[in-house]
Amino acid sequence: HPELVTLGEVMGVAAATTPGPLATGAALRLGWAGAEATVAVGVSRLGRSAAWTGRVGEDAMGAMVLAGLRAEGVDVSGARTDPAAPTGLMLRERRTADRLRVTYYRAGLAGSRLAPEDLDEARMAGARILHVTGITPALSPTARAAVEHAVAVARAAGVIVSFDVNHRERLWSRAEAAEVLARLLPYADIVFAGPEEAALFVPADEPERMARALTGLGPAQAVLKLGADGALAVADGALHVQPAVRVTAVDPVGAGDAFVSGYLAAVLDGSPVPERLRLAALCGAFAVSVPGDWEGLPRSAELGLLAAQDISR
Ligand code: ATP
Repeated sequence: HPELVTLGEVMGVAAATTPGPLATGAALRLGWAGAEATVAVGVSRLGRSAAWTGRVGEDAMGAMVLAGLRAEGVDVSGARTDPAAPTGLMLRERRTADRLRVTYYRAGLAGSRLAPEDLDEARMAGARILHVTGITPALSPTARAAVEHAVAVARAAGVIVSFDVNHRERLWSRAEAAEVLARLLPYADIVFAGPEEAALFVPADEPERMARALTGLGPAQAVLKLGADGALAVADGALHVQPAVRVTAVDPVGAGDAFVSGYLAAVLDGSPVPERLRLAALCGAFAVSVPGDWEGLPRSAELGLLAAQDISR
């Protein structure tokens, strides 16, 4: 069985290679993106086994995504090719040199058609970690049911459940997200959130108090991601603070998923919380240093490129 199992949505990305309005034509480069798949790639590059489950369409973009994940060593044997809907797509327009505009074509498409019957329960129960995000439940009622089923199966089997809140304002309101995602919290062993995401569930406050309040809702470990300010975790009542690794940031997108991949790989390594946070911060720093969501994720042997002397694996 793979050590980490995750499920979610992937989509093609058509990204402008030069600044200017897409409406008047622009050169595009094709790639793919997906929060949970990014975590799987990160964990795989750090030498642990990971599997991704979800749906793609029976089309070139779906084939590209699955080939890309396979090339990264991610097990996609549980993924489904859905003949009834195309793979989703994200257009990344560089409207000016430093202003991105993103358009999604995802509603009703293959990724959103994920359903509980897509899940291999034996595989999930045999994993060491199940990772889910708050994006998937926002996609459709069946995708929501799939996540709810997955966390229940994992929890019952004693599998560590990791939950990244990942609130997406374009998909649903804060009130709706808070109601649905709060039901997942009691199943989670580890929760990752930014301060605004944490405020969906607990009173807005300074980060440590918010993390402590989150642990009161179920998860033994609450990790707050604070961007260029680093991160902090409250784990079994103890506070751990992690500064960010100083790098030149060129693309903030994907930092959160990279961070999660480092944290979870370190959990699989059996590392204590401070080392989980250090590896997480390193992975986040690699991600922001490179354009693209997952391309810049580090392999174990590359960690030294950014690691301060105190970071070793
Ligand atoms: P996103 O949703 O954009 O992927 P996020 O909001 O979930 O990201 P962040 O808090 O922005 O997550 O970033 C996660 C981690 O990545 C941070 O805790 C930090 O360790 C690292 N990181 C983020 N931005 C920077 C930066 N500018 N320089 C160095 N490290 C960074």
